Amino acid sequence: MDWRSMIGEPDERGCRRWVGTWLVGGRPQVRVDGKNQYVARILLSESLGRPIRSGYYALHTCDVGTCCEVSHLFEGTPRRNILDAVEKGRWTQAGYHPRIEPDQARWIREQYASGNRWWTRRRLADRFAVSENTITEIVRGHRFRTAGGPISGPRGAGGRPVSPAGDLAASPSR
Ligand SMILES: [Zn+2]
Repeated sequence: MDWRSMIGEPDERGCRRWVGTWLVGGRPQVRVDGKNQYVARILLSESLGRPIRSGYYALHTCDVGTCCEVSHLFEGTPRRNILDAVEKGRWTQAGYHPRIEPDQARWIREQYASGNRWWTRRRLADRFAVSENTITEIVRGHRFRTAGGPISGPRGAGGRPVSPAGDLAASPSR
C-alpha cells in the first residue's frame, strides 16, 4: 500500500495528519528504499527538490508532529529545533538550559507583570526550561537589563496565588 494514502485530509488549520500507526517519537515513519525514513523529511525533501541538509531537521510550523502538509514543513537546524520546542513550551527536560534571548526575556517580564496569574514564575521557568531563580532575576531586571519590558519588584510573602489551569483571567492585584 502506498504510504501516501496514510496522509489524512486537511483539518481546519490545514494540517494533514498521518492516519497510519507507525510513529517513532510521535512522528510518522515509513520504510522506503530499505530504510526507515521520517515522512516529513521525505515530503520536505521532495518539495525542496533536494535532500534535507545533513544535520538539519524537517520541522513543523504548526507544532503537529503527525502533520504531513508540506507547506507546514521547513528545514531547520537542531538549535532551531530546540528553540522551537522551547517557544512552544514542549521542552521542559530538567538539566537542559537553553540561552534565553532578549526578546524572550522581555516577553517573560510582560507576562509576569501583566496581572495574568497563570504565568507564575514556576510556569515561566518550566516553559523556558530554566530555574525559577533565573525567572526571578529576569523579572526584577537583574538579568537582561536592556531587554525592555516592565521590571517587577519583590512580591509579598508567599507570592501570587496560583489560579487553576486554564484560568487566563486578568488579576486585579496590581
Ligand atoms: Zn500542520
